[in-house]
Order: sequence, then structure tokens, then C-alpha cells
Amino acid sequence: MGVSGFIKGFSFLHRTKPRTRFHPYGYIQWRNFSDSKILNGNDSLLPVLIVGAGPVGLVLSILLNKFGIKCTLLEKNKVFSQHPQAHFINNRTMEVFRKLDGLAEEIQRSQPPVDLWRKFIYCTSLTGSILGSVDHMHPKDFEKVVSPISVAHFSQYKLTRILVKMLENLGFGIHSLEGPEGLHPEPLRGREILMGHECVSIDTTDECVTATVSFSKEGKLLTRKIQSKILIGADGAGSTVRKLVGIELKGEKDLQKLVSVHFWSKELGQYLLNKRPGMLFFIFNTEAIGVLVAHDLTQGEFVLQIPFYPPQQNLEDFSPEICKKLILKMVGQELLDIDVIDIKPWVMHAEVAERFVCGNNQIMLCGDAAHRFPPAGGFGMNTGIQDAHNLAWKIASLMKGVAPSSILATYETERKPIAVFNTALSVQNFRAAMAVPATLGLDPTVANSVHQVINKGVGSILPSGMQKVILDGIFSIGRTQLSGLILNENNPLGSSRLAKLRHIFEEGKSLQLQFPAEDLGFRYLEGALVPDSKDVASALELPTGRRRDYVPCADPGSRLPHMNVRVLSDFPSEETISTHDLVSVDKVEFLLIIAPVEESYNLAQAAFKAAEEYKVSTKVCVLWPADTVTGFQPGSKAKLPWKNYTDVIEVKSSSDSLSWWRTCQMTERGAILVRPDEHIAWRSKSSIVGDPYAKMNMVFSTILGFKSQPIQETVS
Ligand SMILES: Cc1cc2nc3c(=O)[nH]c(=O)nc-3n(C[C@H](O)[C@H](O)[C@H](O)COP(=O)(O)OP(=O)(O)OC[C@H]3O[C@@H](n4cnc5c(N)ncnc54)[C@H](O)[C@@H]3O)c2cc1C
Repeated sequence: MGVSGFIKGFSFLHRTKPRTRFHPYGYIQWRNFSDSKILNGNDSLLPVLIVGAGPVGLVLSILLNKFGIKCTLLEKNKVFSQHPQAHFINNRTMEVFRKLDGLAEEIQRSQPPVDLWRKFIYCTSLTGSILGSVDHMHPKDFEKVVSPISVAHFSQYKLTRILVKMLENLGFGIHSLEGPEGLHPEPLRGREILMGHECVSIDTTDECVTATVSFSKEGKLLTRKIQSKILIGADGAGSTVRKLVGIELKGEKDLQKLVSVHFWSKELGQYLLNKRPGMLFFIFNTEAIGVLVAHDLTQGEFVLQIPFYPPQQNLEDFSPEICKKLILKMVGQELLDIDVIDIKPWVMHAEVAERFVCGNNQIMLCGDAAHRFPPAGGFGMNTGIQDAHNLAWKIASLMKGVAPSSILATYETERKPIAVFNTALSVQNFRAAMAVPATLGLDPTVANSVHQVINKGVGSILPSGMQKVILDGIFSIGRTQLSGLILNENNPLGSSRLAKLRHIFEEGKSLQLQFPAEDLGFRYLEGALVPDSKDVASALELPTGRRRDYVPCADPGSRLPHMNVRVLSDFPSEETISTHDLVSVDKVEFLLIIAPVEESYNLAQAAFKAAEEYKVSTKVCVLWPADTVTGFQPGSKAKLPWKNYTDVIEVKSSSDSLSWWRTCQMTERGAILVRPDEHIAWRSKSSIVGDPYAKMNMVFSTILGFKSQPIQETVS
């Protein structure tokens, strides 16, 4: 039975009155069927309910709000998480943030200076010898040629804080049960975050999704029902929504178990800031092994990641006092101001949900709920935020009556292959990270195998205390490989290991931070777009795990290449903007980019006419080659009798940089149609053959999903 059948079947089974429902959380709720008629207390239906106010749910609600779509967020915790967790924001996410009311600028202002985090450092202790270091910023990362913005290093909880503030500025209320407002707003306005509210069950009908939400008030566990047209599961790696709708995860589980120790030490921060600034410190010595993430050296905020081997080890083995001792072993000298504030175990998986959309296109999974990767390369939150960016304009198109509900199915068609690809890339990068300890004689796969033998093999019959002693013994014997006696240039084994390490670092075979080709170059092959015929059978190129440059591309499904342009208007301005800025952020609007040539003007007129019929806003951008227009010029007024167009001129970054059309690998008789998420929906490399109106009509109907079989563009 399909998922939607399962959900409906589940609802049907329980439609007797009164009746008992057993919830997965072990309590029983009494419900009259008539309850389900009560819609938020006033028969209103929320357009969108988002379960989970992590970074993905918060960004999605901002994007929806910008498109004028109301949504309510549920967050099971009473306060937002203060754990730093993610910190690397990739280039594409920063491009998305750049268009959200100054969010990217605020991150850039607040993050530590790039020289403090551009390196990964490998050492025997934070004050001991450096085994190697890798600088992850290349000169071109600062040149802003392929993107108007660069990557960032900013802790997840600080990002969350800014996102919540942005929502408050957009009129959202944060309702925390404890406050004087007491319970929660009735009716829901579609602009609120309900803290301390956990989604515990879901029912669907053709008209709506009903979420049962539990919360505790004055010691009592209460429930309420919230009905919405669409429900989004943005509820993280352990997603309840995913489990409730019965979607399985596919991939590798339990790659590694770790404990995150969040602590502050200004003293350590100052030492590293002066002596060896970096973002990640991989520490290998005879007493301890771990990875230190420097979230903010100036403030002295760190997270230490330590391998964790349950059940022989348990969380009590990582009390604040023990963690302090471990930190000191990794620092290699005394520190007086270590303040451990949080200790959290976590498990690394590499899994993707089998489906991202279910329940008749009414329920969608987003972010970690849909995919959970090793954090190597920092793709987790970034992929989730880009899911939200893909989904928001599609939800808005449906809600505004521009597209049928099938447009939501394209969210899975487009985003699932990206999630699968990013999972493979993250696993590869995680394995690359293992090359360093393996070269030092500490192969982590061996440690994991030893652990498995103790868990499942002969070791499992031993008393748990003895298992722990054996495991500790084996690990400490392993760590002797790191002793100064072995690891030095005078020892033949040590010197050969150090030479191999140098090779790994120089060849870019260790853990990488930046993947421009994948970060900016990911591409949808099918979905809400008109694919090239050559694309249909082709798959995404396999990840190499090495840094590769991004090559601009205007093939359908790609992100619109960035180029600086200057607007030619009645008010001449020297200000340059990015081609990305031509795409509207607050309405569902397509952008057609053409050259100032007669046949392209004809195509633009045909596009306006077709767009009008589909009731979808479309703007035309006439892109003039550099140096062809001097000063003020009225541009295309005579050719385009509609108002919604703009003339812009290329601003080349250097005299030998390519023109716009060459950058896009097209002729200047071509045209590019861009979606509201800045991905290319259709393009013609050169002139259109045949009737331009018929062509544009087909293009819009295919993108919006009015045709069962998308047309295929013949590559010209
Ligand atoms: C050590 C570490 C380092 C990382 N570094 C990076 C990095 O540098 N860059 C990067 O991109 N990613 C990184 N990640 C991954 C990143 O942290 C996650 O991908 C990100 O948190 C996912 O965001 P989310 O909003 O999808 O889920 P979450 O952040 O997990 O948020 C989900 C929210 O839903 C709530 N919730 C859960 N169930 C319910 C329910 N039933 N009802 C209501 N609310 C519910 C939860 O309380 C939570 O607040 C890292 C992860 C780890 C562990």
C-alpha cells in the first residue's frame, strides 16, 4: 500500500466514536470524531503547518512569508537549541541568504574574520607539534567572479537567533506557553511559532492534513488539532513526521558515534588566535584523540568531538569533570577557565528518505528529516536550506492558483537526487578525513571492527566492566603509535608516516571544506523544467571527494550563472548588481533573459502573452553586451510594450573575461527562462525555430505541470 493509502487507511480505522487512539508516545487520547470538524477553533484552514523550528523550518517560513503564504511553526522544545552544531554556510546558501533582508550581510558582519577559520590544523596537541595544515580558501574565493558572495563560518544557534528575529520583524509571534499570553493564540493567524508543541500524529483527507499536537500546561499533558492544506516535516534527523507517514530511510546507519562537548575558554581562544588560528583542529596523542571545532576564537567558544563507543562507554564516562581532563590532554598545558556547558552524544548516518513527498502531495519532508549526512564538508544544513528554497516557490505557485498540486511532486524529483549525491560526497569526505589517522597507524575502521567484535562477537559474553577494560586497553595500545618515540623524523616508521601525511595534505586528499563544483554547480535533470533531450538518460557526475572548480552553465536545471550587471534606466546609476538580483524574491515571477536582437524581442512578446494566459508573472531582462551602450539609453521601450522588463548591461570583471552569452555557453540569439529559485527552467541556445508563442506556451505548461509528459528541448 502506498504511503497516502496508509495514512488514509490509518484515519479510516480510527473513525469510530468515541474511540481510543494509541499514540507512538505511549499515552492515550480520547477523541470524538466531531473534534475533527473543529478547525483551529474557527473553521479556518492554515495554508502551511511546519513541524520543527530548526534552521530549515525557520528559513522555509521566511521564504513562504515573502511570497505572501501564511504558515505556523511547531517546535517541541520550549526554547531554541543553544548547541552550536553547524557552522559552515556554503556559497549557495549564502546566495539564498543574500536575498533575505540583509541576512547574509549580518552573518558576514558577525562571523569571525576569515583568517581565523580558513585552515584545518593537524597536531599532536593544541600546543604541541603541527603535523600539517590545510588552507581551504583559494584566492579566487575572494574574487566574487562566480558568485556575488562567499562562504561563511557562523554557529547554527546564532543563525537561529537571527532567523527568529527576522520572523518577529515579519510579524510572527513566538508563543512560549510560560508567558502571560498563557496557552496559545486562538485562532492561529498563520504567523506564529508555537514553542513546546510536539506533533504526535497526522491524519489526511483530500482536503487537508490534521496534525495532533501535544503540549504540557501546568503539569497536564494536553492536545490540540491543527489543520492545514500542507504539512512540512522539518523536524530533524529523528523526524516524527517521517515515521508517522511510514517513509523509510535508505543508506548506511551508524557510521560513527561521537560525543560533542560544548565549552568556553577565552584563554584557549587567545592562545590559538595568536599562535595557530583555524576552524578545525585534529588532535592525535597517546592520551586522547579528538576534533576541536573553533566556533569563535575571539570569544573562546569551542566544540570538541570525541569518538564514543557504547555500550562499553556511557554518557557518565563524559561528565563535565572528565571532559575537562580530556580537553586539557588535547590542549597539552594547563588552562584555568574551561567552562563545559553541554555534552551531547550523536550518531553519524548517511541516509536519504525513500520519498520526500506523500499523502497526495500534502506532506513533504525537508532538511534532516529527508536526509542525514556525515557533517564532513558541512552539507547537512546547507542542503536542507536549499530544499526549503526549492519548495517555497512551488507551494506559493499552488496556493496562488498558478500551478496544479503536481508541482509539489517535482520537489522530490529535483531534490532527492541532490540529497543522494550530497550523501555520497559527505561519506567520501568523511573517509578522506580517516586517511590521516590511518596513516598514523590508527585506522578508525580497525577501531570500529574491534568494537563490533566486542559487541557482537566473543567479547559480548564477557561482563560489561571487562569489555570496557579490554576496549580501553586496545585503544591505548593503538595510541602508542602516536608517541614522540615513533612519530619523529629520526624514526624510519615515523618519518615514512610523516612523509605520507605531507603527501595527503598537498594532494588535497584529506578532509575538504569547499566543493565549488557541487556547491554552485548542482543541477536538476527533471522536474519543473524543460530538460534537454541529452539530459534524460544522463546521471549526475559522481563525486570525486576533491575540490573542483565550478564552471558556469546555463543548462536547464542549473543555477543561473552570476555576472555583475548595471541597470540602464531613466536614472543612470553606476551601481552594479548580480544577475541573481534580477530574480524577484517576494513574488512568484519568472525571468526571461534575452539579448537586444529583433527575434529575441519577438520571443519576449510571445513569452509575455503565454505567461498572461497561465497567470504567471514574468519579467524580461534585456542584457546588453559590455561597451555597447554609453550612459543613459531608453533601451527596449519601443520593442516591449509591457512594463515588466529591464535593460541591463554587462560589467566585466576583467578585460579578458567572457561575455554573458559565452559564459553561458550559448549564442546571443538564445534565451534563458529562470525560475523564482534562480534555477534555469528552460533555455534555447540560439534562435527559436517555428512559432515563438507556441514554444513559450509549451514551455510554461511543462514547467508548471499542466502536461502529463514534459516536452523535451532539442539541443540546438
Ligand atoms: C557536529 C555537527 C556539525 C555540523 N556542521 C554542519 C555544518 O557546518 N554545515 C551544515 O550545513 N550542516 C552541519 N551539520 C548538520 C546540521 O546541524 C543539520 O543538518 C541541521 O541542524 C538540520 O536542520 P533541520 O532544521 O533540518 O533540523 P534540526 O536542526 O534538527 O531541527 C529540527 C527541529 O524540529 C524539532 N522537532 C523534532 N520533532 C518534532 C515534533 N514532533 N514536533 C515539533 N517539533 C519537533 C526539534 O526540536 C528541532 O528544533 C552538523 C551537524 C553536526 C551534528
